[in-house]
Amino acid sequence: MCGIIGYVGEEDSVPIIVEGLKKLEYRGYDSAGLAVFGKNGYQVVKKKGRLSALEAAIKENPIGSHMGIGHTRWATHGEPSDVNSHPHLGSQNKIAIVHNGIIENFKQLKERLESKGIKFTSQTDSEVIAQLAEYYYDGDLIDMVIKVAGRLEGSYALGIMCLDDPDTLIAVKKDNPLIVGSSGHGNFIASDVPAILGHTNKVYYLNDSEIAVLKRGGVEFFTMDKEPLEKTIETITWSLDSAEKGGYPHFMLKEIMEQPKVIRDTIQSAIGNGENAKVLDGIDISKFNKIVITACGSAYNAGAVSKYVFERLCRFPSIEVSLASEFRYMDAVIDGKTLVILISQSGETADTIAAMREAKAKDAVTLAIVNVIGSTIAKESDHTIYTAAGPEIAVATTKAFSTQLVLLYLLAIRFAARLNRLPPEDEKNLLAELVSLPDKVTDILGHVDYIQKYASTCIGCKNIFFIGRNIDYAIALEGSLKLKEISYIHSEAYAGGELKHGPISLVEKGTLVVTISNCKQLYSKIFSNAEQVISRGAKVLFVGNACDAEVSEDISLVSLPDIHELFSPSLSVVALQLFSYYVAANKGLDIDKPRNLAKSVTVE
Ligand code: GLU
Repeated sequence: MCGIIGYVGEEDSVPIIVEGLKKLEYRGYDSAGLAVFGKNGYQVVKKKGRLSALEAAIKENPIGSHMGIGHTRWATHGEPSDVNSHPHLGSQNKIAIVHNGIIENFKQLKERLESKGIKFTSQTDSEVIAQLAEYYYDGDLIDMVIKVAGRLEGSYALGIMCLDDPDTLIAVKKDNPLIVGSSGHGNFIASDVPAILGHTNKVYYLNDSEIAVLKRGGVEFFTMDKEPLEKTIETITWSLDSAEKGGYPHFMLKEIMEQPKVIRDTIQSAIGNGENAKVLDGIDISKFNKIVITACGSAYNAGAVSKYVFERLCRFPSIEVSLASEFRYMDAVIDGKTLVILISQSGETADTIAAMREAKAKDAVTLAIVNVIGSTIAKESDHTIYTAAGPEIAVATTKAFSTQLVLLYLLAIRFAARLNRLPPEDEKNLLAELVSLPDKVTDILGHVDYIQKYASTCIGCKNIFFIGRNIDYAIALEGSLKLKEISYIHSEAYAGGELKHGPISLVEKGTLVVTISNCKQLYSKIFSNAEQVISRGAKVLFVGNACDAEVSEDISLVSLPDIHELFSPSLSVVALQLFSYYVAANKGLDIDKPRNLAKSVTVE
């Protein structure tokens, strides 16, 4: 995910692009760049790092032009670096492009173009678009776009300029967002409305396979058959602040709502010919006799959930889950026969980096699950697979956690199959269940009213407990962490069977006990635990698909869709995220930046 913007008009495009990129930085921020049209060729500035690095470079060597394109990047192919930043130019410096998305067949296209003597300068998938465009360009820009689009597999939103045409900016998209804006002084393309809302609130929403041709004086649209297309201009009525969050009041809610898409993207990346699938193919699990999963915070909770999945599917002799901050000083008994799985959204978590280095020093093989390409853990780990969550802005993780979970499930399925512990038919069925997950998450997100209403009654709670058994206990840990992070209500998670060994003494009249129930065989057990707390004055909120308790004054129920028990945490967590979010929202708290917390914990 990244942000693109382009402008052609009466004004200087450079400040318009830079200001627009600032509004899009939430979409990616590992590097940024722009190219503007100049009489003697393009003027290009590209810088690794935050947008401020690009701004400083432009300040040092000022540039200006009536037309240009800009990009803020979230690397998917090729590390964040100046050269891999967008825009990318063809080798004749004639066509310049910015790209949001992933070109899945870039390797084949690149090889083909290289065999014709075309030289590439970056490691990105995106450069192939600029090279292909130059290869096909014969004087007609629309013909060129149609030919290029016909060859690209994957997803793209593109801004394109050609040196032959000082008054034309082209846009085309497939599976990634792109809007076209129109103002009195010029026309714009952008990944999202906030980038241009300071100039205009009149936009066209581009659909897949539509081509937009922008000139100073107007915009025209064409189909892939070069037929002119009539499109309706729309008026944006949101404020700039709400537009940045896609209309949501907080990034956290926006990110919760993005989960069906990012879960789907992550599953795709790890099956078939996806990039993650190739990495997983390279790991022979039969060489190992021990798996250690180590991480911090929510990533640790994802590991805790996955232990149940690994145990159940792989029947592996030794699987441990360890807090990275403890593992690093534990002098753990590990060696070359241990696979250490590290989980970190940012790939920069100091304790997890230290755990990785400790594991490597003891000859263990490391496999990292991270979200940020080019991060320290991604670079240093022996193997790395990526969650396709895109940038996560809210400090409390939601979509990154959910994508970590699906990669862990897929890892367990793959290892189990490799170890011959999962017959092909069962593997097929599990994968089919997993593929159904995004739609079930969508289903939950379509019915938030009840959770929202229930949460509004909980803002006075002093303590909230989360209980579950088996895999429901593991996800209760995450529900509890999410609540305390953003609502500042004290909360703990307990295994249902542990209550009687101590925590039950904390239950008093009105205490809320959120009870996760997806394990059908254990329903009667967890129900007994719920009764034990109700009889001491507690109220119980059941969350799950294995619960037929009658709703009463003491019992409320968030019923979840049916799914294989091992994947049920992915549904429970969405309900739990929403619950925490609405409790905090009702308390009027700074949800995206909770006190005392930071997004990426780079200190010990
Ligand atoms: N795949 C492109 C790159 O890695 C674009 C990234 C994106 O859209 O996030 O440069």
